[in-house]
Amino acid sequence: MSNRGLSAKFVNWDKVPHFGKKEFGTHLQELDSILLYALGSFRSLLNAPVFISPSNWGSHVPNSYHSAKKGRNAFGWALDVFPSGSLLFAYQTALSIKEFGGVGVYPFWSYPSKKLQGGLHLDIRLYPTNKSLWFYNSVAGKGQYKSLHSVEDCLDMFELLSTIGDQK
Ligand SMILES: [Zn+2]
Repeated sequence: MSNRGLSAKFVNWDKVPHFGKKEFGTHLQELDSILLYALGSFRSLLNAPVFISPSNWGSHVPNSYHSAKKGRNAFGWALDVFPSGSLLFAYQTALSIKEFGGVGVYPFWSYPSKKLQGGLHLDIRLYPTNKSLWFYNSVAGKGQYKSLHSVEDCLDMFELLSTIGDQK
């Protein structure tokens, strides 16, 4: 049993700068407080707006850490977000937050009403040594996950991001 924090009900919002409760809708209390504090640290370091994806409240695969799971997380451990500016810089910023044990880069996510393109999955899974890092590419209309643990995979992502003009 490895609970992390408490319900978001007990979050001190002064310690989650730039976010308001209503950005998390009616699902706020399903989230782990540690996730929200980590998100606040990420937002402060990034120093740019971060939009919470509406897809958070849809369905997710069971191993995504989004939903509370018996014996693992008591509250949701993951959020999908749209950071403003360079996705590469947002990824690097997320890596520096130690609570984030899983970081996924999704260059093709879009949030048309906010004119945002490119998102991150952020989760607070526990990791003994290595974080889980990956990016999601779309090759000829087919999605493809690639881990970001080899130099080659990182280079593939850098190339993809530069191709789509990630230099904001
Ligand atoms: Zn996610």
